Amino acid sequence: MRTLSILGSTGSIGRQTLEIVDMFPNHFKVEALCARQNSQLLFEQVRRYQPKYAALTGCEVTIPKDLKKSCEWLFGDAALETLAGVGTAQDVMVSVSGMVGLRAVLAARQAGRRVLLANKEALVAGGSLVMSQCEVGGHQATLLPVDSEHSAIFQCLNASQGNPFRKLILTASGGPFRNWDIKKIKTATIEQALNHPNWSMGSKISIDSASMFNKALEIIEAKWLFSADPEQIEVVVHPQSIVHSCVEFEDGTVLAQMGLPDMRLPILYAMNYPTRLKTQMKTLDLTAIKDLSFEAPDLERFPAISLAYQTLQTNDASSCILNAANEEAVAMFLKDEIKFGQIYYIVENTLQRLGSQRADTLEEVEYADAIARRTAKRMIQ
Ligand code: NDP
Ligand code: MG
Repeated sequence: MRTLSILGSTGSIGRQTLEIVDMFPNHFKVEALCARQNSQLLFEQVRRYQPKYAALTGCEVTIPKDLKKSCEWLFGDAALETLAGVGTAQDVMVSVSGMVGLRAVLAARQAGRRVLLANKEALVAGGSLVMSQCEVGGHQATLLPVDSEHSAIFQCLNASQGNPFRKLILTASGGPFRNWDIKKIKTATIEQALNHPNWSMGSKISIDSASMFNKALEIIEAKWLFSADPEQIEVVVHPQSIVHSCVEFEDGTVLAQMGLPDMRLPILYAMNYPTRLKTQMKTLDLTAIKDLSFEAPDLERFPAISLAYQTLQTNDASSCILNAANEEAVAMFLKDEIKFGQIYYIVENTLQRLGSQRADTLEEVEYADAIARRTAKRMIQ
């Protein structure tokens, strides 16, 4: 039996993690659950999974009578970090969205927990801090990637018996605007941007997938997780989302990890790593899929990808700034305050305006994050 805390239990990844717990009630026990404001769903989850701890970081509500004493309740922003290290959970699923995940990851590691990492913003903003506390790979792994592309690469590397890789090939669905004209993309509506062809996800990552900032973040995520040089990371658009990513080895062999686009697979792999559990989930029928296609990304219509490579040329806070400006721009877009095309404009200009900032300590990373957010917001005012 493994004990698990879930930070962001009411979100897309959090709910799918609980589906895995439902599938294997004798393998996983929930220790703590945390959400920001979706109190109704959190209450239902607490009733069902009976954790020892529960937290709501973004609202103060009255706890229903029957739940008041069923577990210890925490409130406020700091509860996220506290919950990451509280109790005796062996694993912490970090599935909040945004850079707020960084402190949670560090707190979980400080408490000796294994981190199951869905949250990519933590690595993008504070990659060197996270990696200095974590081991990726081997039986002693303390960080297990959940993002499907990185789980795929992790699985291919696990099959390589320690042989070094030559190249990591990150696949990308291309998002809802893959075939759209650049002018039409710039004025796309919220509804159009949220309409991902293959995956059902939270709103922030859905917008990122439409702008391909998601792939930009994933390039940076891959650099940190697998110690890859920028030249070793390639992005290939694969609209069917069946090949989740590939690794090329020194002899020219390419290993790919495939499966239906179902996040429960990489979640389960991380939760029970290194052993694979038997499931009844629908499996891949290649003859039904028929065609797998691949194309180079269009960097003119999706310039976010080039911006990620630019930030990798530096050793400063550029990726943290890119992430913070993007988080703010996406939030503004979702509030209908800016046009879709302005997301890229805001990120690029925030990077240009702020220039080089240090990112060696948590304080420096949080400072760069804060000024990038301020700069991004002011750009529109
Ligand atoms: P959602 O928006 O669906 O869920 C986010 C979750 O985090 C919710 O439970 C939310 O609570 C909670 N949350 C957000 N901020 C805080 C906070 N400050 N304190 C406590 N809880 C907080 O996002 P997703 O599940 O889609 O994505 C989560 C992360 O996983 C992201 O970093 C994303 O990039 C990554 N990811 C997601 C994939 C997917 O398929 N969804 C695939 C690969 C990676 P509340 O509901 O109360 O707001
Ligand atoms: Mg992904």
